[in-house]
Amino acid sequence: MAVKKRCQYCGKLFIPDKRIGTRQKACSAECQKLRKKDNNRAFSRNNPGYWRGRYSVLKEWRQTHPGYQRQWRQARAQRREAMKPPEIQAELFLKALDTVEKNVSLLREIQAEILLQVVETIAVKTCSLSRHAVRYKPR
Ligand SMILES: [Zn+2]
Repeated sequence: MAVKKRCQYCGKLFIPDKRIGTRQKACSAECQKLRKKDNNRAFSRNNPGYWRGRYSVLKEWRQTHPGYQRQWRQARAQRREAMKPPEIQAELFLKALDTVEKNVSLLREIQAEILLQVVETIAVKTCSLSRHAVRYKPR
């Protein structure tokens, strides 16, 4: 009997393809597309300079393919309209998650900076209070 697996993208149970077996993570073509997007994002994150310095090549290609970008955007808009709401939500959630991951380190730095300022302020106040205590020692 085939062992069911839980899809990492929609959470539904599915029977993996025999040829892929335990390596299959997504249940359907839609979920596989989300997985592919995830992998592309991870690749860009892990190889930050990979796409730099390629604009001249891209610019040349775009000049030989006028209108491609406009057609691509229209096709994307049509695909999104055809998408079912949970898929759109999943995509938006993944985008939000990606943004949060990118900003977490920055936010931690800011938080640490704020904590340092608070500690410094407390230290300064404590020092001035202790000087007062020394100056105005009750007799
Ligand atoms: Zn799925």
